[in-house]
Formats: sequence, C-alpha cells, structure tokens
Amino acid sequence: MKLYNLKNHNETVNFAKAVKLGLGQQQGLFFPVKLPTITPIQLSEILKLDFITRSTEILSKFICNEISKDKLYKHVKKAFSFKHPLQVPITKNIHCFELFHGPTLAFKDFGARFMAQMIFSLNTKNESVTILTATSGDTGAAVAHAFYKMKNVRVIILYPKGKISELQEKLFCTLGKNIKTISINGSFDDCQKLVKEAFNDKKLKESIGLNSANSINISRLLAQICYYFEAFSLISEQQRNNLVVAVPCGNFGNLTAGLLAKSMGLPIKSFIACTNANDTVPRFLQNGKWYPKKTVSTISNAMDISQPNNWTRIEELFYRNKWNLKELRFGSVSDDITQETLKELFQLGYVSEPHAAIAYRLLQNQLKKDEFGLFLGTAHPAKFKNTVEKILNNNISLPDELKNRINLPLLSYNINPDFNKLKEFLVEN
Ligand SMILES: *Cc1c(COP(=O)(O)O)cnc(C)c1O
Repeated sequence: MKLYNLKNHNETVNFAKAVKLGLGQQQGLFFPVKLPTITPIQLSEILKLDFITRSTEILSKFICNEISKDKLYKHVKKAFSFKHPLQVPITKNIHCFELFHGPTLAFKDFGARFMAQMIFSLNTKNESVTILTATSGDTGAAVAHAFYKMKNVRVIILYPKGKISELQEKLFCTLGKNIKTISINGSFDDCQKLVKEAFNDKKLKESIGLNSANSINISRLLAQICYYFEAFSLISEQQRNNLVVAVPCGNFGNLTAGLLAKSMGLPIKSFIACTNANDTVPRFLQNGKWYPKKTVSTISNAMDISQPNNWTRIEELFYRNKWNLKELRFGSVSDDITQETLKELFQLGYVSEPHAAIAYRLLQNQLKKDEFGLFLGTAHPAKFKNTVEKILNNNISLPDELKNRINLPLLSYNINPDFNKLKEFLVEN
C-alpha cells in the first residue's frame, strides 16, 4: 500500500512507514494513492462472511502486499476479539448501531486495537516504541488498553484536565506499568498541539521512537471501515437501498472511515456529519468559510474539537471520487437540545448518551420519506453516568469494565500546555 502526504504529495510511504510515522512532513496526513474498490457481486459475497473474515478481506484490499492475508486474519481476530456491534431498533426507520461493546466501551476500541496489532506486527526488529497520543476522552482508554503490557512499547497519553468524565479518566489513568498519563491544564486542541510539536522535533522523535495513536494514524481509519460493512450486512434489502448514516463527529476519523467504505463500493446513500456547538465543519459546509472558533466544553466532550484533523482527508476523498461536498449532510446540536433528545430517546425505551443523541437528533430531523437511518452509538451510556443520570433522573448500572476500576487511584501527572515540560517528561520517564 502506497500513501502520500496531503501537504506534500512527493512524500510517499508504504503502510508500515505510515503506521510508524503517524504524520508526514509538515504534519501532513497520509492518504492512499490507490483507493481499492469492490464490485456489487463481490459486495454481496463479502456481506455473507462473518465479521472477522469479512474485515480481513476488506483490510487486505489495502495492505495485503505488506501483510499476508493469513497473518492479517490472525491480527484482525485478536484486535476484534470482543462482542461485535449490535443494531438496536429505535423507531420503525431508525436504528442505533452500537459500537461500544469493546473493553473500553467506545468505538475507539476497533481502531486502537487494530493499530496495536499492526505496530506489534511491523516492529520486526523489536525496537522500543513510544506511543504519544492526545485524547478528548475515549481514545486514551482504547489506546491504553490496546497496548497494555505490550513488549517494547511505552504509551503516553495527554488529556485536558477536568474536561473528561471521571469514569473516562478512571478507565485509563489507573493502569500503570507501560501506560503513563498526563493531564494538561488546557483544552483538547492544546493537547493535540503538544503532540504535533513533539512529532516536529526530529531529534526527540528518533531518540525515543515516537509514534502517534490518534485517529490520524492510517491503521485506525482502515480498521473502522470494517464495521460500516457489518452495519450494512445486518439490514434488509429494502433498508439497504436508501441508507443514511449519522455520525457523531469530533476529529472526523469515524466519518472518514465511513466515506472510505462508501468509496470502496458500499452503497450508503448519504452521511450526516453531526457536531455539538464546536461546529467548524457545519459552518464550513454552510458558507464555505473555514473559521474555527475557540473550543467550547459541552456534555458530548469527546466531540469538543474545533480543528478536526481528519477534515483534509475527507476533502481529498471527495476530490478523488469526484463527489460533491454539497451531498454531505450536516448539522450541529446544542447541549439543551441534546438533553431533550436523551429524554426523548428514553421515552422510546432507549438509554443513550450525549454523543449518539446528537446523531439521532439530526438523523430524525433530516431523514426523508423512504429513507432508512442508522446513527452510530459511539460510547456506552455508563461512561457518562453522571450526566446521563442527571438528565434522565434514572440510575445507570456500571458494566464490569468500569466497576473494576472505579476505586483505583489515579496515576496521572499534570503539566501546563508547554512543550518543554512535555519534552522533559518524555526524556526522563
Ligand atoms: C471519539 C469520539 C467521537 C468522535 O469521533 P471522531 O472519529 O473523532 O470524529 C464521538 N463520540 C465518542 C463517544 C467518541 O469517543
């Protein structure tokens, strides 16, 4: 698999290098030179396969010249070794596609665990690797658990202090061993900036074998393509003809993966890019002006991102496929409406959480007659227990993954958003 840097098309790398580097020169994102496709006949065959076999087929379209299909199958099996996504009917023409049944209760388990497998598999010389990543809540846990106790790998996770839920924090800041967590006195965008600065520091990068695990890492995106096919395999022929998928967006990795699935030949009619008040993309799609505002905190904190990294990939994908950005549906939802929507879903017999509720709201508003809608359930409601309980006035029980960690002490360090401080930490710890 060959990829080019979106900021400098002359920089090309193979999959192994793209996974290892995370970002290219000038912090450019990598993008596939060839976009593999499957025919409608191949599609109907592939949809009949089980999740692991099908996912291997999909991923091999991108990377089988670098990792054999047999080997890939073993990695996919290990990465996706948890309860598969579930589809839950909410109304007659709207279902929730729940992606949160992995070990850290968010869809990020798919990408993070596959990436961990790839880094392990591609590290043939047993070099020491430092994974440095920023999280707005759920990536941290997914990455930490995916790499926990993995040989030759040290993981460092930055997160905005006080801006992730207590349970989110407990899930990954209590592990210890090869997992180090640092709370930053700032926003998620500040954390992301620190990570970028570290990657720009060539000397540092080489001396500690720096690797990123954000949704910018191509291996994570590829893994996420797989569950869109799974969603499609679970719906009826009629529903398949008019499928609209609503994606709760933060860094826009999830939506990028969905669009990649469509680009391969999965006939999803339309996507809705859903955001909270951090609405840079909806405003851009409305008026053509890219004008990020200061990030604001919302109850859907994993989406509190005003400069989404993956957006350039989406633009490239539209350009390469000769799609029109006008076809992308979009919307943003305030905290007030999100709360009302959570109550509305509860009335319908479904306990949700703020991120998915935003996607449901926009889907329900925008779905046309004869269309069938899926909204992605990106996290388990228990991860946002306090918020959800307050809004619904109802108790939410904790799944075992959380129950086991809730009383453990936090092991995080704390620093200001100052690159020199981070550098010191990276060298000393
Ligand atoms: C990360 C996350 C999102 C946003 O996903 P992106 O791929 O960054 O757009 C949405 N919901 C939840 C619960 C998340 O953890």
